[in-house]
Amino acid sequence: MTPGPIYLDHNATTPPSAAVVDAMLSHMTRTWANASSQHEAGQAARVALGQARARVARMLNCRPNEVVFTSGATEANHMALRGAVGFNGRGALVASAGEHAGVLKLLSQLQADAVPVARIGLRADGQLDLDQARALISDAVSLVSVMAANNETGVLMPIGELARLAHAAGALLHVDATQLVGKLPFDFAASGADLVSVSAHKFHGPKGIGALLVRQGLNWPALFPGAQERGRRAGTENLPGVAGFAAAAEALTLSPEVWLARASGMAHLRDRLEAGLQRALPGVVVYGATAPRLPNTSYLRVGRLHADQVLAQLDRLGVMASSGSACSAGGLAASPVLTAMGVPRDEAVCAVRFSLSADTTASEVDHVLSHLPGALMPLMAASDPVSPPGVFA
Ligand code: PMP
Repeated sequence: MTPGPIYLDHNATTPPSAAVVDAMLSHMTRTWANASSQHEAGQAARVALGQARARVARMLNCRPNEVVFTSGATEANHMALRGAVGFNGRGALVASAGEHAGVLKLLSQLQADAVPVARIGLRADGQLDLDQARALISDAVSLVSVMAANNETGVLMPIGELARLAHAAGALLHVDATQLVGKLPFDFAASGADLVSVSAHKFHGPKGIGALLVRQGLNWPALFPGAQERGRRAGTENLPGVAGFAAAAEALTLSPEVWLARASGMAHLRDRLEAGLQRALPGVVVYGATAPRLPNTSYLRVGRLHADQVLAQLDRLGVMASSGSACSAGGLAASPVLTAMGVPRDEAVCAVRFSLSADTTASEVDHVLSHLPGALMPLMAASDPVSPPGVFA
């Protein structure tokens, strides 16, 4: 029997949970007033906003007044990076070469406007090159910006060490935690980061809402100056979005034991998928497999089959995955993440990303394992000779 559509693209976005939809609907129909209004309905919206902020803060272990709600992680990243230019009388930015496409584009734009930007390379296994980081983080740097987990490979970045390096040089650390939050626990207070970007739609919340966490005492410049968010972000508060964000956050305010069980459940299915494909097909190469990575992410190529060929077969089987970052898919350029890892272009264009959720089942993974090898084998026979099987180191 063919199951319904199988969604293995959770790093692109996740379906909103029922609790999130309920919370949003309730605020759209009942608490729709402007939270800045003085009348009773406005006061009720303001109370709801405060309650939602507290729930988001509890999940991320930060203070409620450290949460600045934004339209998502893209805006939070812009607020962090643009705000850093000239901050503390320093101008230079340091970021990793494997940042999200939106951040890489922003950095190029800032560079074209004469902001000094240095990029820390990735190693062949997808990890950050810490020797380069040490060489680049100097007292000319205002901000170091590195993601917590890569959106394509899932490889985890050394945030604690970067916080030490940045602070020793008198610089601040911004962490784009968009892909980590929801898949592993995140503790702002313990992270050492000064600024953190988060997006609700990556963990069953709504799209168009996120936050920049700003360490208490840091007077960070606003991207949109105005009254709301204590002067840090203008615009009528998106209470339905914030309430949906809070409902998603509450569902993930979990004990360490529950987090562990959740993460190991996902890792078990991810490993089963990778091992099953490697057993059934020649030339399966998994990127970042030897590095610590998110439990849900698998980024691989099948010999020299182009990602579009693999995705077409997955589509036929009712399986949704993606070719690397959805935000850069469709372009002819190879993934900058794989390029930074030294993967040649003709191999990088073959990379397909599967990203699971805690709701992914063994039978969904087994559906892929039962049908994908048979669908790809004839294509492989017709394509170039494949490279030897194994794991990309
Ligand atoms: N940073 C990373 C690492 C991401 O994966 C994404 C989403 N693809 C973003 C930022 C942008 O997030 P949003 O959709 O909330 O703007």
